[in-house]
Amino acid sequence: MDFNLTEEQKMFVETVYRYGRDEVQPLCEEADLEGEFNFTIWKKMGNMGLLGLPLPEKFGGSGANIVTCCLAGETLGHAGVDGGHLLAWGAHTYLCASNIMNFGTEEQKEKYLPKLATGEWIGCMGLTEPSAGSDAASMRTTAIKDGEEYILNGSKTFITNAPVSQVMVIFATVDRSKKHEGITAFIVEKGTPGVSTGKPFHKMGCRASSTSEIFLEDCRVPAENVLGGEGKGWRIALSGVEWDRSTLMSPFVGGARYSLDLCAKYANERIQFGRPIREFQAIQRRIADARVFLEAARLVVYRVAWAKDQGKMLNPLEAAVGKVYVGDVGFEVASQAVQIFGGYGFMHEYPVERNFRDAKLAPIGGGTSDIMRMIVSRIMMTS
Ligand SMILES: Cc1cc2nc3c(=O)[nH]c(=O)nc-3n(C[C@H](O)[C@H](O)[C@H](O)COP(=O)(O)OP(=O)(O)OC[C@H]3O[C@@H](n4cnc5c(N)ncnc54)[C@H](O)[C@@H]3O)c2cc1C
Repeated sequence: MDFNLTEEQKMFVETVYRYGRDEVQPLCEEADLEGEFNFTIWKKMGNMGLLGLPLPEKFGGSGANIVTCCLAGETLGHAGVDGGHLLAWGAHTYLCASNIMNFGTEEQKEKYLPKLATGEWIGCMGLTEPSAGSDAASMRTTAIKDGEEYILNGSKTFITNAPVSQVMVIFATVDRSKKHEGITAFIVEKGTPGVSTGKPFHKMGCRASSTSEIFLEDCRVPAENVLGGEGKGWRIALSGVEWDRSTLMSPFVGGARYSLDLCAKYANERIQFGRPIREFQAIQRRIADARVFLEAARLVVYRVAWAKDQGKMLNPLEAAVGKVYVGDVGFEVASQAVQIFGGYGFMHEYPVERNFRDAKLAPIGGGTSDIMRMIVSRIMMTS
């Protein structure tokens, strides 16, 4: 196994880190406190070519492989970019644009990808429903074929970017009795009569991402907007989940690195009992453990990314192990960072506080840690 980055990847990491730290990070604290999506930050990410990173160059993307996408996520998190904008980036790039890239027709790709690649259009993916979260396949949103159109009815919730997006990948069932085989993905454009979004939710973390419900009321979508074929939606949803367990976890690794860097600096500066707190074993132990867990989490993320780049089908067990581990480590490191900062870590002014709130999403979004553990144990006990 070769753990080295190519020269090109090293340069990419340096450039993204500098850009994230100097251009984006200074705007993040305010965006988080206001709890609002920041279009200036979005534009800056677009200018860096990050919004279309995995998309083919002919559609305006950068054609990056998955390891490079993970490097971007980790590096932005490490540079101090807030979880909200990283979540918005992930949902746009990997849950919307990548699904169109992987499952779309040529016409769909030509129509949507160039504008998604620059960020001029923002994308989202609506799978979760008020009564279908972990059990997403029990969705109630229906799609009834009517001539050359489908009529969509139902609602989605917790959808990242919904209030700011122009392009939505929406899952609905054409026949509930068919269960997974009835689920179909549609590209729904904002402005289509019958589609609307709710007011952005007030969230604990990732606050600068804009999250809301999506309502579909007799929303007529042309049949040409079916993504990947009727009844093929579950495969697309699972593919999104696979992105979730690799690329979308990389910002949490980066966020943990950022927190840890801040801790090491703080432990040198903070004096108690006449000594820098770095001299206390309790602090040393916390920092060392966090570093150990972080190293393992990085390996897990890049192993999943590498396997996807090789075109290897991942064992669902390995992907679930990755998701649960990175989710738990991301949150644990963020929590220990707050502890090291003491009372200051509890204050908004200190980025470890924001990181702690943002990191709580990792064991929830894209499949909770409980569901990941259920997958792991089920596979282990049936194989
Ligand atoms: C900030 C944010 C952004 C999101 N963005 C998106 C998005 O862009 N698109 C999208 O489609 N969705 C999105 N989601 C939804 C997210 O994927 C779901 O919240 C998640 O899958 C869990 O579903 P739920 O919230 O309905 O929880 P539930 O499924 O109701 O779970 C509640 C609790 O029960 C546990 N539980 C449920 N079933 C089992 C079981 N069988 N065994 C053991 N424990 C179980 C869960 O682990 C959890 O602790 C987002 C959520 C958040 C918070």
